[in-house]
Amino acid sequence: MPHKTLRYLALGVLVCLLLSGLLSGCAKAKTAQDRTVYAMDTVMTLRVYAPDDSSLDELETLITDLDRQLSATNSDSALSALNRTGTAEDSRLAELISGAAAISQRTGGALDISLYPVSRLWGFPDQAYRVPAPEELEALQGLVGMDRITLEGDRITLAPGTELDFGAVAKGWASDQCRARLEAAGISGILALGGNIQTVGSKPDGSPWSIAIQDPDDPGSYRLILRLEGSRAVVTSGDYQRYFTEGGIRYCHILDPRTLSPVQNSLRSVTVVADSGLLADGLSTALFVSGKEAGIDLWRSSRDFEVIWIEADGAVTVTEGLAGAVDDSSVTVVKR
Ligand code: AMP
Ligand code: MG
Repeated sequence: MPHKTLRYLALGVLVCLLLSGLLSGCAKAKTAQDRTVYAMDTVMTLRVYAPDDSSLDELETLITDLDRQLSATNSDSALSALNRTGTAEDSRLAELISGAAAISQRTGGALDISLYPVSRLWGFPDQAYRVPAPEELEALQGLVGMDRITLEGDRITLAPGTELDFGAVAKGWASDQCRARLEAAGISGILALGGNIQTVGSKPDGSPWSIAIQDPDDPGSYRLILRLEGSRAVVTSGDYQRYFTEGGIRYCHILDPRTLSPVQNSLRSVTVVADSGLLADGLSTALFVSGKEAGIDLWRSSRDFEVIWIEADGAVTVTEGLAGAVDDSSVTVVKR
């Protein structure tokens, strides 16, 4: 082989080596990886910053597994078995029930996971909506209440006729577990499990996470943007997420345990920001039931969450801890 050809060959090999080195370097770089998952009755969009999408596979498996266990409408779920038989020994269910019971206690019973028979009567689970007669609601009164659930370690016992529904807390609990998996792997990202947003770690470019809070009058658009750093759960409960209208009245999917009827108050949505997804999810539902004034009282006596209230007249109120995260001079800030 002529000397010159050998030189070209060597140069070619060198270029190839350099290129493959660069390419494998690129493959290790953290880029945005996106996935859409349909689970827990909602569309979920997951974004992680990682070299590949293997963490998304893991999250998808985790979420679909939790959905299978916690769904009240899937007859094969662990929850359906509990509702059918009135008893179960299950550490996951027990942990979720005890977390929900703690939030229920903090909110004077506004969160009540035993409302499933009532939700069914109004037709929410299968979208066969109707306004029940007062006697039908009265007949269910005796079946509802957190005191009808007994927990002894992992053993759960339901009083006769009582059935549970984790719709108010399951997505928040799932987001806590997704966050733990990503943090253990050193991966950052932003997960939207329906109305439950979970940020994990920091954005690779160092800018804060931007979270749009939906406009209840036009859910395809947003009412304000929150800018947050680090790992936070941002959960919204609103009367526009699932509802039906009859006789000019809007009946939303969030029920008041006192009246066994859809909440009717000045609120269109409540967003809770917290470190814990379970707390943010449970509280956003509960504070929607409690109304704004009771929510402000609870916030003043707590240190582990912040709130945004959007009212029917369009007014937006935020707690002090979020004042710096909201770029909108029309909002009212509640102080301690
Ligand atoms: P969320 O979307 O998190 O506010 O939860 C609403 C869902 O939780 C509803 O679709 C019902 O399945 C269930 N639910 C309704 N009202 C309540 C309540 N007061 N406490 C607990 N769960 C509720
Ligand atoms: Mg909730």
